[in-house]
Amino acid sequence: MKILVLNAGSSSHKSCLFDLSSADADHSPSPLWRAALDWTHQEGGVELTATNAAGDSMQQVLSTTDKAEGIEAMVKTLVQGPTQVLGDLAEIAAVGHRVVHGGHNYQNPVVVDDEVKATIESLIPLAPAHNPANLQGIEAIAQSLGTIPQVAVFDTAFHSHMPEAAATYPGPYAWVEQGIRRYGFHGISHQYVAQRAAKMLGRDLESLKILTCHLGNGCSLAAVKDGFCVDTTMGFTPLEGLMMGSRSGSVDPGLLIHLMRHEGYSVDDLDTLLNKESGLKGLSGLSNDMRLVTEAMEQGNPQAKLAIEVFIHRLRREMGGMIASLGGLDVVVFTAGIGENKSLVWQRACEGFEFLGLRLNDDPSRAQDDQDIATMDSAVRVLVIHTQEEWAIAQACLALLQPATGHM
Ligand code: AMP
Repeated sequence: MKILVLNAGSSSHKSCLFDLSSADADHSPSPLWRAALDWTHQEGGVELTATNAAGDSMQQVLSTTDKAEGIEAMVKTLVQGPTQVLGDLAEIAAVGHRVVHGGHNYQNPVVVDDEVKATIESLIPLAPAHNPANLQGIEAIAQSLGTIPQVAVFDTAFHSHMPEAAATYPGPYAWVEQGIRRYGFHGISHQYVAQRAAKMLGRDLESLKILTCHLGNGCSLAAVKDGFCVDTTMGFTPLEGLMMGSRSGSVDPGLLIHLMRHEGYSVDDLDTLLNKESGLKGLSGLSNDMRLVTEAMEQGNPQAKLAIEVFIHRLRREMGGMIASLGGLDVVVFTAGIGENKSLVWQRACEGFEFLGLRLNDDPSRAQDDQDIATMDSAVRVLVIHTQEEWAIAQACLALLQPATGHM
């Protein structure tokens, strides 16, 4: 069974094709084909790149800004040109979409129909950068592949079981009635790495208290207990919680009132400031890329040093909050770009939890595979796991469309 996965973002789309008939449920296979559309590099056009499992690749600049045209061209590279892996597009059994916001409506993946599309559209005010792109992706696939089953897998779904006390903001009760609550994001990744952690340790997911740390350009933590998310650091929007690449994470709301009242900031100014000009980028004055900020710190740049110190401080503080929500700790998982690669972050973040008996190997370095970086006698396992969101989406499609054989 071949499943196409589309992760449609505001300025780039990524897509993969998996063959699930030969897949081993415990290991994510390499996709048969992988492609991307990137609208950020070409004025009035889009860069299309594709590669297949045999290593053939193509790159082309298309003179269109139309997302549907871009997706159609991308899908054609499955059946034409150097990256061809299919004889016919009809070999694709289903298409899985990452949809960022499913609100409170969806706790599980769903087959897309008119009602699901209307719900995704109604949630655009809560995810203005993402849900429109996700919806366009669904429409474009229908244009290119006709009436193929399409499945929406929501980034918010894993968090939808959070207890009310964790999901509710302490504002007026009217907020509860208006759906102003903590939704959480990166759920596909948090769920995948929690399940993978249990498999790596040979334990039942339901028996573990797991703290998952998704540290990429966007950063969030999740507290996973009995297989469910009981708390997370992102909230109504992906701005809450940890310091991130260019997002501030949580700041005193009084600060925003001050900037508006005394410094003349508009709503749009604050949006740009908090989402694009803060975090590692804002504090270092250099970049949202952890690699560049660390390099600058090592060369003695004081702003870069401050940026890393604040990143670690806030990470540890929020990890502590998640451990309290878990009421204990069996496993910490690090994942995503920073979490999978940055031993400095593993070491500095974990230093705060040695009092729990957590011990890391001396000088743990990055391995090719998912790895356990805690000492044998550590009271807490510490795992570094490659997040596999596309694979998780493909598996969710299989589980939904072939429940007898599917596995998540
Ligand atoms: P993601 O959003 O998961 O793609 O992660 C992007 C972030 O991961 C960027 O801030 C990069 O700085 C960081 N990153 C990616 N690779 C590395 C690496 N080898 N070492 C440190 N940070 C990395």
